[in-house]
Formats: sequence, C-alpha cells, structure tokens
Amino acid sequence: MQQTQEDRQILIKAVFFDLDNTLVDFFRMKQSSVRAAVVAMLDAGLDGSFDETLKQIMEIYKTEGIEYQKVFDSFLEARLGEINYKILASAVVAYRKAREASLVLYPHVTATLTSLVRRGIKLAIITDAPPMQAWLRLCHLNLHHLFDTVIVTEELGALKPSPIPFRKALERLDVQPSQALMIGDWPERDIVGAKKVGIRTVFARYGDPRDVEESFADYEIDDISELNSIIEGLG
Ligand SMILES: [Mg+2]
Repeated sequence: MQQTQEDRQILIKAVFFDLDNTLVDFFRMKQSSVRAAVVAMLDAGLDGSFDETLKQIMEIYKTEGIEYQKVFDSFLEARLGEINYKILASAVVAYRKAREASLVLYPHVTATLTSLVRRGIKLAIITDAPPMQAWLRLCHLNLHHLFDTVIVTEELGALKPSPIPFRKALERLDVQPSQALMIGDWPERDIVGAKKVGIRTVFARYGDPRDVEESFADYEIDDISELNSIIEGLG
C-alpha cells in the first residue's frame, strides 16, 4: 500500500537526554581532573606515590559520591591529620584547569542536536547531577540555550528512575509518551525510569562506564548520530 503524506510524518516530537556520559564525557573529565590534582599535590610537597594517592581519592569518591566537592579536604585530613593549604590549593587549581580542558561533548553531539532542532523536535535534559554542577557543565559547553527544558531531578526531589521527572518533561514539552525518546547511559536510572511511563528508550553504549551487558533498552547506539536513523525508522 502506498504511504500517504501523513504516514511519513515523524512520530517522535521530543527527545530527552541524560547529561553525564551521554552528552558529556564526564568520566574522562573526572579522570583527567583528579590525575592533574594528584600530580600537583605531589609537586607541592605531599609524600607518597601517584598510584596510591589516586586510589585513596577515588575511594573517597566511592564513599561520598562522585560529585563530592570536598574530596581533597577529606583526603588531606585522612592522610596528614590536618589540611595543608598549600597542597589543597595546588590540588584545587590543577583540578579546575584540567576540568576546563577536558570537559567536552562526545563526537557528533552538536551536529545531532542541531539536526533534531531543525526537524522541529523538542529537546530536554533530565539529569541527576547537583543543580549547580549540571548548569556549570551546560553553560561551559554552550548547551544552555539549545534545550527546551532542563530537568534537574534533585530540584524535584525525585531522582531517576522515578517517573516524576519523565512525566514533568512530557508535560513541559506537551508530548505524549509515544512521541518521546529517552537516551541515557545508565540502564537502572535512564532506561527503567523512561520505560515506567511508556517512553521508548535508547542506550548510549558509547558513554557506558560500567560495561553493562544487558541494557533492556529498545535501541542501543555506539554514536549519538544514530539517533537520526532511529527517529526516521519510527516515522
Ligand atoms: Mg549518565
């Protein structure tokens, strides 16, 4: 049967993105920044080896959370029994400089987002990052004007996989679950959360820092530009 014009219209009207490890290579940024801080601390007079210092800092992140802002204070207190401010300042300055340099988008993110906007598809971010950290990253990468809405789940008091942030995104962009697509790197949060409200899902395998075996997503991609063909296929 011949397709009518209406049949060929694009079904998807909105795409929801996770931020870290989906648009932004957060893992690489964190690694580079912490490594630079360790080098700077050793240079400023801290005793110890690079490897065990790095390991001790990563352990603190594991306990306190990867966004923990006082990691070097805690590290120095644990290591020296007090904060040496020369060493702390060296760490913070090196960390910030490396973060500036290493906070980048994955390949083809800008081109893909631009092509979606050109097609009239609305864009949202749904992130569990702390509000200030999320906006710092978005502003640094000049993404803060591109999205129709940014949902910082902490502000809603409901982190993914709660259905609340997903429903909020649907409501703000005025689309039905069947007209939306969610893309993320964390199955238990991004994929499970979107599925709960009936949104189709895409697993960002290129950003997965956990070596996930089974994502349970409707689609898996190795490059963000594959979103274009997924959306066309759903048309
Ligand atoms: Mg993520």
